[in-house]
Amino acid sequence: MQGLSGRVALVTGAGRGIGRAICQAYGTAGAKVAAVARSTDELESIVGDIREAGGTAEAFTADLSDPAVPETLLASVNESLGPVEVLVNNAGVGSSSDPKPLVEFDDEFWRLTLEVNLNAPYRLTKLALPAMIAAGWGRVITVASINSRVGSLHGAAYAASKHGVLGLMRTAAQETASLGVTVNCICPGPVRTLMNDKRIEYDAERLGRGLDDHESGLTPIGGRLEPEDIAPMAVYLASDAGRMVTGQAYNICGGINMA
Ligand code: NAP
Repeated sequence: MQGLSGRVALVTGAGRGIGRAICQAYGTAGAKVAAVARSTDELESIVGDIREAGGTAEAFTADLSDPAVPETLLASVNESLGPVEVLVNNAGVGSSSDPKPLVEFDDEFWRLTLEVNLNAPYRLTKLALPAMIAAGWGRVITVASINSRVGSLHGAAYAASKHGVLGLMRTAAQETASLGVTVNCICPGPVRTLMNDKRIEYDAERLGRGLDDHESGLTPIGGRLEPEDIAPMAVYLASDAGRMVTGQAYNICGGINMA
């Protein structure tokens, strides 16, 4: 597989979890990484790690729940690293920050989830695509979820946003297929991150199970995935080796039976 030498890669949700692992792998593959999230300390940590290993990375503190942010963010990245060639839409609000049955669902939490998980990828992709199309080369990779395919109990906003983003990316793929740009989704199962810690604590309590018992039965292969299990697919999809792959959604989910 070829590397990402010199490619400008913007990764949202870069400070921890899956986004951090993708940044690390992109740094190793030679990309210039624009690491985006709200928590400056976490961004500085991943940027420091990439630089220490000889790579190139910059931190961009930004709150993607603000609809005005994608435009200013892309302008800042363009100015310091160049036009974004690889966009990774990874930042997300989880289902378990405020889990509730639909009839009790909090409208503000619905709005926030849709803003970060669906509207921000819409805006970032729309704004990043013209430069990719002009260059005849680009990659958009969105970290969706197995909840892009099945519901999320007490997580209506999460499942709606993740189903929505899959449709958005499939459409973008159709529109860019002949232009040198690929657009794909990765659909993880349960991955050991802060977001998923909250979800499994909620489910274990709801089901009256011990946390360890609950966790060990989460996938047929056993337990949860690690963020590093997701990153290699993000490298492949960003590379020249992935040039004939577009409009796809890859489940990485420990063998959970998914369509
Ligand atoms: P995580 O460890 O909680 O990381 C979430 C990242 O998103 C953090 O870097 C967070 O940074 C960022 N973020 C959240 N709200 C933001 C905002 N308003 N503006 C900018 N950045 C924001 O969770 P994760 O599990 O790695 O999640 C990454 C992606 O994977 C999400 O899209 C999630 O839905 C998806 N996913 C996760 C799992 C799983 O089991 N973990 C399964 C399927 C899909 P700040 O808080 O600093 O802003």
